[in-house]
Amino acid sequence: MTLTEPVDRTRASSAPVLEVHDLTVTFPTPDGDVRAVRGVDLTLRRGEVLGIVGESGSGKSVTSLAVLGLLPATAKVTGSITLDGEELIGRGDKAMSAIRGKRIAMVFQDPLSAFTPVYTVGQQIAETVLIHRGGTKKQARERAIELLGLVGIPEPERRVDSFPHEFSGGMRQRAMIAMAIANDPDVILADEPTTALDVTIQAQVISVLRTAQRETGAALLFVSHDLGVIAGFADRIAVMYAGRVVETATADDLFAHPRMPYTVGLIGALPRLDQRSDQPLVPIPGTPPSLLSLAPGCPFAARCPLVTAECRVDEPALEQAPAVEAGHRAACLHADQLVGEGTDPEDVYDLPPAPTSELASVPRASRDRVLHVDGLVKTFPLTKGSVFKRRVGSVWAVDGVDLDVREGETLGLVGESGSGKSTTLHEIMDLRVPEAGTIELLGTALDRKLDGSTVKRLRGAVSMVFQDPMASLDPRQPVSDIIAEPLLAIGRPRDEVSRRVPELMRLVGLEPAAATRYPHEFSGGQRQRISIARALAADPKLIVLDEPVSALDVSIQAGVLNLLAELKATLDLSYLFVSHDLSVIRHVADRVTVMYLGRTVETGPVDEVFEHPLHPYTQALLSAVPVPDPVKERAREHIVLPGDPPTPTVKQTGCRFRSRCPLYAMLPEAQRSRCEDEVPTMLPHGRDGADHTAACHFAREKQLV
Ligand code: SF4
Ligand code: SF4
Repeated sequence: MTLTEPVDRTRASSAPVLEVHDLTVTFPTPDGDVRAVRGVDLTLRRGEVLGIVGESGSGKSVTSLAVLGLLPATAKVTGSITLDGEELIGRGDKAMSAIRGKRIAMVFQDPLSAFTPVYTVGQQIAETVLIHRGGTKKQARERAIELLGLVGIPEPERRVDSFPHEFSGGMRQRAMIAMAIANDPDVILADEPTTALDVTIQAQVISVLRTAQRETGAALLFVSHDLGVIAGFADRIAVMYAGRVVETATADDLFAHPRMPYTVGLIGALPRLDQRSDQPLVPIPGTPPSLLSLAPGCPFAARCPLVTAECRVDEPALEQAPAVEAGHRAACLHADQLVGEGTDPEDVYDLPPAPTSELASVPRASRDRVLHVDGLVKTFPLTKGSVFKRRVGSVWAVDGVDLDVREGETLGLVGESGSGKSTTLHEIMDLRVPEAGTIELLGTALDRKLDGSTVKRLRGAVSMVFQDPMASLDPRQPVSDIIAEPLLAIGRPRDEVSRRVPELMRLVGLEPAAATRYPHEFSGGQRQRISIARALAADPKLIVLDEPVSALDVSIQAGVLNLLAELKATLDLSYLFVSHDLSVIRHVADRVTVMYLGRTVETGPVDEVFEHPLHPYTQALLSAVPVPDPVKERAREHIVLPGDPPTPTVKQTGCRFRSRCPLYAMLPEAQRSRCEDEVPTMLPHGRDGADHTAACHFAREKQLV
């Protein structure tokens, strides 16, 4: 079949193309056998999208590697994996290589690993075509161009000769999809294909995957930790936990009537783009069990709110669940309770009370200003030459950023890679005079070199939490020393420090007895709590949180977000919260500032900006974020932005969003010239009195969530 032949869906959809039956994968280790996959059954039909969702260690990626025959030789694999009835388990590497890339195609998280840097993208796609389909080199090259065009690479005739490093991350991911579908595979296996990508690029890649699947008629196995991404894309979903499928159903039925407490918790733990956030998220207590030494019974028992003694005897089988459509199966002894008592996560799990702050009743205008940034600029020299470096230009990393944070308030800072978020944070934390623009921190203007005592005061009053606690915590120090460090740095006496450390540990939900342990002895969520305790040590007024929950699984993330909300309310803290995840921002922030290519483009109260976005970029960002509700997600308008942001090495004239702006493309010529010549400034365009500004000459509200 070629790409242009229509797919016969009626014929295609009935026959299973890939069947996995009772798959087990065990990794022998010096400490014993790790049972990574424990009896997985999956069926995938042509033209169908099956989403596998699970957190770290759930076995989802090991399952997909087993299907591809890419497990290490030490792995013990049992059970059956058949492709069109042919058994794959037990085949040698040579036989599997003939299947991989031809009948089962792969799309991975890291496209760079799929391409060899020394050959052009076109050569590599053409090579795949030649190996599996034969034909002439000219035909293979033409096919590569056709495929690059199909996945939306602009000017495919020219870009076919580009090297992988000349493509942006999103383009590489699309090129990998082109390579994957080069041979009209029966199955496309996409393992976290959008995880490292910005949200607008994620939307492009998902749209390309949809096209690729439609054009080839292949079955798509989509593996992701993100229930939101899977919701709108998958026909059916399998939820994995501790190496097993614990629930499987059509996407609609799974979200509407989950029948396994873990799924209920996962849905409740997700912050949602489309909901106001005055309630805490559902934190699933504890962490997943070790697959080295599983206790008998249900593996979710230690975390389950419905657990009974019976659950700890035998592991429940995956069976037809009560009061749902046929084929909706769940591995839970008490699934019937979810029928009677409803499946609202807050009915099943204990929610902490919503934190309240005394400051909530104080109008924003009357609260103290904690941080004010106006027209901030930061450039870096662009140099050439290895010995004698010459400045040949500038990188305009930040070129007009405005921020305002008041006491007891969270400002969410949103923007994609290269938007200048990190540079902005560095400029604030450096406490130096900015290149241009102004920074005022807790009433102190950074307009001259600060004296030692002011620096000390500000260092205590402003602290920071980073994305990766493992990288930001010294692995050689016990937790007590890590938390004590900022206190000692500002000269607090030792006895006060010894009193304060256990207090801080309790405050973030850690046992003070664990103070002598080292960071590696804690889970990811606990390590982030240590970082938060350290950030709280010197009684800060403002905490700068740089992607603090991005590295955490969703059930753990919920607990950390609830903790941050509680600390903010009880200690009257202010947060500058940076996240690429707009759903997290909707949940945590009071106000939000959106950045694009080094500039602020929109700012306002979070509900106002999310419900009535004004700037075309904010609108595209919001439309690109999937909501974890398949029915709603399918009905939403999605604005897929073309291309990538322009390079910050070129000083832009007019509006810098112009090259990707869907509104600009629709404007009459006379109005376009305004976007080309005149830099838009932040002006109120929103509803009266909404305190909502955007930098667009033609800002108009649009509802997208
Ligand atoms: S079997 Fe028991 S412990 Fe397991 S999910 Fe169901 S209620 Fe919870
Ligand atoms: S000013 Fe023009 S190009 Fe810029 S966002 Fe508005 S419409 Fe688009």
